[in-house]
Amino acid sequence: MKPIHNIFPLITQPARVVITMHQKPDGDAMGSALGLCGFLKRLGHEVAVISPTNWANWLNWMPGCDGVLNYEKHHDRSAELLSKADYLFCLDFNIFHRTKNLAPLLADATCVKVLIDHHEQPDTASFNYGISDITKSSTCEMVYDFIEASGNDKLIDANIARCLYAGVVTDTGSFRFSSTHASVHQMVARLMETDFDHALVHSNLFDNFLENRLRFIGHVLSNRMEFFYEYNTALISITKQDLLKYYIKTGDTEGLVNYPMSVKGIELVGFVIDRDEERKWSFRSKRHFDCNTFARKYFNGGGHYNASGGNSKDSLAQTVEYFKQTIKENEHLLVEVKS
Ligand code: 5GP
Ligand code: MN
Repeated sequence: MKPIHNIFPLITQPARVVITMHQKPDGDAMGSALGLCGFLKRLGHEVAVISPTNWANWLNWMPGCDGVLNYEKHHDRSAELLSKADYLFCLDFNIFHRTKNLAPLLADATCVKVLIDHHEQPDTASFNYGISDITKSSTCEMVYDFIEASGNDKLIDANIARCLYAGVVTDTGSFRFSSTHASVHQMVARLMETDFDHALVHSNLFDNFLENRLRFIGHVLSNRMEFFYEYNTALISITKQDLLKYYIKTGDTEGLVNYPMSVKGIELVGFVIDRDEERKWSFRSKRHFDCNTFARKYFNGGGHYNASGGNSKDSLAQTVEYFKQTIKENEHLLVEVKS
């Protein structure tokens, strides 16, 4: 993978570009894809954004989101766009299989492939150009850096700024995580010069749910949360019936993993949902516990040091039992952080 700046001279000529991101895109994945899309369009390119799957409704306000193709619904159109593309930009994921069923198409595409991502251990061999930087707060910050380094930051308008700001807000936990370096605030100051309404972005992201989600959270916190203080760990496990009873949709469970983090002494939270196809895990840690290594070692996943995910084909009861074993096995790492 050649350094990303090598692509700047190439993108001065109008070309056909496809942008994609990880499955079930979150604020950073969708925000970075749409921010880059807005920018490349202003440079004169023909740009399509393809999401591997559906996404949360609370992302629909983002400028350009109405034009995003859901690969699960538009196989043929997506395949056609990929076959005609000159460039493929892959954002906010580190290996093709994070795009689920879209992965074989991306692997087989013959165009120039570009990676912009901040996850650990990227599959750099799959990309011609790119940047992978785990110190970055978000892929949105990296898209901003990309635009600035290309000498085109004057092209950042309020719509691009909204998208990039939204991704930075979601991936930094509203500027609280340690990844929120001075560069993040400097970028935000620059984005705010475009005069977009940042309070409205927050409201669009966080004040747009239905009552059922709040009732669901009440149920989960009362009945589905366990604490293992001897391991500084908490667990939330959500059943299929819970999802059905409360009409839970994509994106409604986002952020729930953070609730047990507010408890003093808790260093690791495991959060698992019983989905049809798999048991989907999320992991969060406060400081010194390495969630990326943990998810890779035990749950077929990965991510960042303090936030990762994985999956299991076992039943919910089995994978929960397994999680309890893993925290026993990691007691030395979990308890060490307490002292
Ligand atoms: P979340 O818990 O919000 O779904 O994901 C937390 C972080 O871990 C995100 O950066 C996400 O991209 C990554 N992640 C989530 N699930 C997986 C997975 O199954 N495999 C890998 N490699 N990363 C994951
Ligand atoms: Mn991200």
